[in-house]
Amino acid sequence: MNRFKQWLYRFMYGRYGMDTLNRILSAVVFIILIVTLFLSGYPRLILSGLGFLLLAYIYFRMFSRNIYKRSKENEKVVQFFNRIKNIPKYRYFKCPTCKVKIRVPRHKGKIEITCPKCRGRFIKKT
Ligand SMILES: [Zn+2]
Repeated sequence: MNRFKQWLYRFMYGRYGMDTLNRILSAVVFIILIVTLFLSGYPRLILSGLGFLLLAYIYFRMFSRNIYKRSKENEKVVQFFNRIKNIPKYRYFKCPTCKVKIRVPRHKGKIEITCPKCRGRFIKKT
């Protein structure tokens, strides 16, 4: 076992390894695997082919020596998911009187907004 560990360590030296993108892809492969259990015929064939390709891609990324490129890919994906998580929780309205921008929480229905600058009131749907 120790020998295997050493071999693995040497093998993985200078290679990229696991990252967020690979974890996401692994989860997708896992889901595909489960879905294929309920399919038959061509859909099953196509989907398992897709899962296989994804798996190959995961291994390609894991063993890649182009660490810079792989981490750039990962960064893009992480940024994308961060953007989804940070879907704006606020809406911005302009006060009809003084044109100042006002930040209002989303999904509160129709509310009356009081402008912090001129105290003018107006109703908006959030
Ligand atoms: Zn105002």
